[in-house]
Amino acid sequence: MSALESQQASAPANAVISELIERSHRLGADPRNTNYAGGNTSAKGTATDPVTGSPVELLWVKGSGGDLATLTESGLAVLRVERLRALADTYPGIDREDEMVAAFDYCLHGKGGAAPSIDTAMHALIGARHVDHLHPDSGIALAAAVDGKQLTRECFGGRVAWVPWRRPGFQLGLDIAAIHKSNPELIGVMLGGHGITAWGPTSQACEQRSREIIGTAAQFLVRSGRADPFGPLISDYRPAARAERRRLAAQLAPVIRGLASTDRLQVGHFCDHEIVLDFLSRRKHPQLVALGTSCPDHFLRTKIRPMLLDMPPSASVGAMSGRLSELHAAYRASYQEYYLRHAMPDSPAMRGADPAIVLLPGIGMFSLGPDKQTARVAGEFYLNAINVMRGAESVSSYAPISEAEKFRIEYWELEEAKLLRMPPARPLAARVALVTGAGSGIGRATAKRLAAEGACVVVSDLDSSAAATVTADIGSADHAVSVAADVTSEDSVIAAFQAAALAFGGVDLVVNNAGLSLSRPLLETTARDWDRQHHVMARGSFLVSREAARMMKAQGMAGDIIYICSKNAVFAGPANVAYGAAKADQAHQVRLLAAELGEYGIRVNGINPDAVVRGSGIFASGWGAERGLCTAYRRRSSVPITRAGRCSNARSCPSTLPLPWQRSCLVTSP
Ligand SMILES: [Zn+2]
Repeated sequence: MSALESQQASAPANAVISELIERSHRLGADPRNTNYAGGNTSAKGTATDPVTGSPVELLWVKGSGGDLATLTESGLAVLRVERLRALADTYPGIDREDEMVAAFDYCLHGKGGAAPSIDTAMHALIGARHVDHLHPDSGIALAAAVDGKQLTRECFGGRVAWVPWRRPGFQLGLDIAAIHKSNPELIGVMLGGHGITAWGPTSQACEQRSREIIGTAAQFLVRSGRADPFGPLISDYRPAARAERRRLAAQLAPVIRGLASTDRLQVGHFCDHEIVLDFLSRRKHPQLVALGTSCPDHFLRTKIRPMLLDMPPSASVGAMSGRLSELHAAYRASYQEYYLRHAMPDSPAMRGADPAIVLLPGIGMFSLGPDKQTARVAGEFYLNAINVMRGAESVSSYAPISEAEKFRIEYWELEEAKLLRMPPARPLAARVALVTGAGSGIGRATAKRLAAEGACVVVSDLDSSAAATVTADIGSADHAVSVAADVTSEDSVIAAFQAAALAFGGVDLVVNNAGLSLSRPLLETTARDWDRQHHVMARGSFLVSREAARMMKAQGMAGDIIYICSKNAVFAGPANVAYGAAKADQAHQVRLLAAELGEYGIRVNGINPDAVVRGSGIFASGWGAERGLCTAYRRRSSVPITRAGRCSNARSCPSTLPLPWQRSCLVTSP
């Protein structure tokens, strides 16, 4: 052990941990160093064994899942180095290497912290105190080049060794440890088809070496790479102007989402980054797309290859939709063939044959997943994959690992176990809701409740800052987006639905909630009052329902439209002619649309709330306040008004969801 290593060995455990976490944050903060949630870091140090009072050598290593940039101490697995290394003596060989993961449980220190990942053996077996394993685009570009071994030598001389592709696991750890032991001059290795591993006697040295490998590879690609690695421009496939791309994407989104939800409901994420648009406008893109992604982290998220539309952006939306449908059928058939070609009798069942990435030349990329974060990250990974292909093609030819190896990873028992450990999905997971008038009152409470049940929510309101506040309360853009929309304007309503399509791929549940109340006796009701009331509620909900139905029909996977009507839609009282008549109009829209849209599986329901006080604009400052209705309603309500009401009609209520209106009665249901 060197002097530095002995000095490190005596560093207190908490100093080792905080140094490791800080290093992980610095490395994880730059996407050029590793992809989201990809890679892992470790440190070894000495602590006192509370049982014997003697020193014990421990390994702190990033556990399974999680991201380096946000790593905390609870994300670290803590294991005993001596016991981990002793596993090498009982290792039964490559055919049974997966059994070693279960053996990690017998090497834990105390409760062991986070679950150890498959890469734990590599970190433990390498004789250096600090180890980084990363997936940098520049490194994988060399690792996935057909002559990666030779390029690694050219790029790094004798400082970095080449390790041919091997599935992550105990054997890979043994291989790398042996290379480290017999080549003290090495700072790390290039892992064929996969990524890099670097090591160092101190945390600082390890980080510096990781950065040296990543930076040297990037400079090498720039210095020795050819100018247009993806080939010449296909003029028809040049990117459309931004507004046109987004218009086309919004129209194609529900078609794509509907197709890609054949096996299970998925949400979408749209990206028109210039990296994607440039790639799709170049001659070589079809052949490269077909080769699929390489790094295991990449293809686990992106599926082995994307689905590619073979039409220019100038084609009509109808023609593109028809072609997407054909390509989707072909994609599913080819995925099934891939599964059957490689599945063994004990392989897990096929997990679904729909694409995770759909590429549209000149328009952009849709990525899909069971929730928005998964969909977004899949898209980010395909951007990584394009960078990798560009790097590899600029100095050589891109040659990802074989399809058989990809299958072994995709349907690996350990991956299956990881999926089975995932928490069950929430009731509205992968559903997209759009709520109008969601900046306050019933709309706000509904939007929040739908989000709490797992839906992605488009919070629409005339008041953009109220919508933004509700959206921020719900969470990140993976959970909700806000849209300033005037429901009386056709263009504004269309734009709100376009925003839903671009944010989440479509819409499944639309709540017509926007409204206002001008309560005046007949003789004091102006024509303007009447028009305003009818514009916002009757016309507004008609426009919203029309766009909702258009999008739901394009998706072809049913949906719900819910009208927040009012008790006043059916009960008559004085001084309420404009409001009550507009609510009655909405209530009849429910019946009419239920009759018309039922054949598409679109359910249309209305709810007649009465005396909703909490958070209501009407009661805060409107006619309700003036008329003292708040107090009156509070007095006669049989349910405490401060509690969210629950729709009592479980049989025909669209989602049997507890919703925040006080008392409700259903108007109709198909
Ligand atoms: Zn890896």
